[in-house]
Amino acid sequence: MTDGTDATRYAYACREELYLMEISFQSLGLVPELLRAVDQEGYTAPTPIQCEAIPPALEGRDVVGSAQTGTGKTAAFLLPILQRLMAGPHGKLRALVLAPTRELAEQVLNSARAYGRHVDLKSVAVYGGVRMEPQTRALKAGVDIVIATPGRLLDHMGRGHVDASALELLVLDEADRMLDMGFSRDVHRILDSLPSQRQTLFFSATISGDVDRLARRALKDYAAVEIGRRTEAAEGVEHVLVAVDKPRKRSLLAKLLKVLPDDRTLVFTRTKHGADVVAHHLRREGNDVAALHGGKPQGVRDEALGRFKNGKTRVLVATDVAARGIDVDDIGLVVNYDVPRDPEVYIHRVGRTARAGAQGIAMTLMSPDEWTSMSDVEKLMGRTFSREVVPGFEPAVMPMQPAEMTPAPRPQGPSLRPRRGASRRR
Ligand code: AMP
Repeated sequence: MTDGTDATRYAYACREELYLMEISFQSLGLVPELLRAVDQEGYTAPTPIQCEAIPPALEGRDVVGSAQTGTGKTAAFLLPILQRLMAGPHGKLRALVLAPTRELAEQVLNSARAYGRHVDLKSVAVYGGVRMEPQTRALKAGVDIVIATPGRLLDHMGRGHVDASALELLVLDEADRMLDMGFSRDVHRILDSLPSQRQTLFFSATISGDVDRLARRALKDYAAVEIGRRTEAAEGVEHVLVAVDKPRKRSLLAKLLKVLPDDRTLVFTRTKHGADVVAHHLRREGNDVAALHGGKPQGVRDEALGRFKNGKTRVLVATDVAARGIDVDDIGLVVNYDVPRDPEVYIHRVGRTARAGAQGIAMTLMSPDEWTSMSDVEKLMGRTFSREVVPGFEPAVMPMQPAEMTPAPRPQGPSLRPRRGASRRR
């Protein structure tokens, strides 16, 4: 224990599985209105990132959270925001959440409404691809929390629809993805126009040099919380690697979907065109399938996601960017239709299954040109997977089985590093 604050104490307890059962939302310092809401959501105990991030955030400190998808980070920042905004003036923009995609913005909005159901605060999401007017009306009617994608927010700011003078809290959610998607300039322009006296909560699954620079720009003296190495996939994931030639992947997938359990399935493709082609083929083979990617109109995307969420569509084929906002817990099977070139993308993808401690299968279809990319994934994860072959779908070149790797030891000790952030450069 380094500085003796409650935040540090809880962080310690959270990391120790022995204590995990004793940590409750109540002990994190949340008010009854929020405790009731999380209870109604069915959450019995906070997740590790909630244990670690909520106490320092409630103390008013800046927080950097590095956590994989599905770790409960949305509640980790929304609960402290709601609690802080309960006091003070209502109907003024006091908290802003920046998110990379429309889907994520919508998902955060839904969570804000769910966690804030006993709290009298208004939230709105503003993002591109839809008309501005309804958003303008909502902004002008007086809102407490705005959840926005950077480009559309700047549009509104440029037209004088946003008064950020009373802003107290800023969240950068999935900052790495925001930078990957080319929002760096927009985010910096937004930072320029916000009050410098504010609390900032910063979440990113990966911390690259660019993300680090942005964090240093956006944050003051902060608590850094890190949940899990970014090289680890959730523990309940069974990784299955099937070697097959590229042209035969479609038929193999159609066949496997017939024999695998009838679980909700998310298929990842690298390109939008790939998503359409795979969805089309699976549909022809009698599967109930939808495709989700940025090339489709918003209405079509909402409809596809809605049908997948409520179980009407079993299989969703999606690109990485489109899949970011998919908040569905019981995905039993994730299929990597192609091996991602960036090994961290593999971790993100398979993180969509086995969420919240459940079990899931991550199946990767690997053609010979993807062997190197797959070994990069294995290097990152510090473990290898055996290459399977399905009879009738043998590749022209049979893969060699990789040698076993000894995983690097997990870092021991507390994860809350009371690191001093660089002072704001303004
Ligand atoms: P997130 O990482 O914020 O996208 O959350 C992933 C999923 O975990 C969402 O479906 C949340 O509803 C769920 N979740 C968040 N916090 C908890 C909790 N403490 N207990 C159980 N589920 C949770």
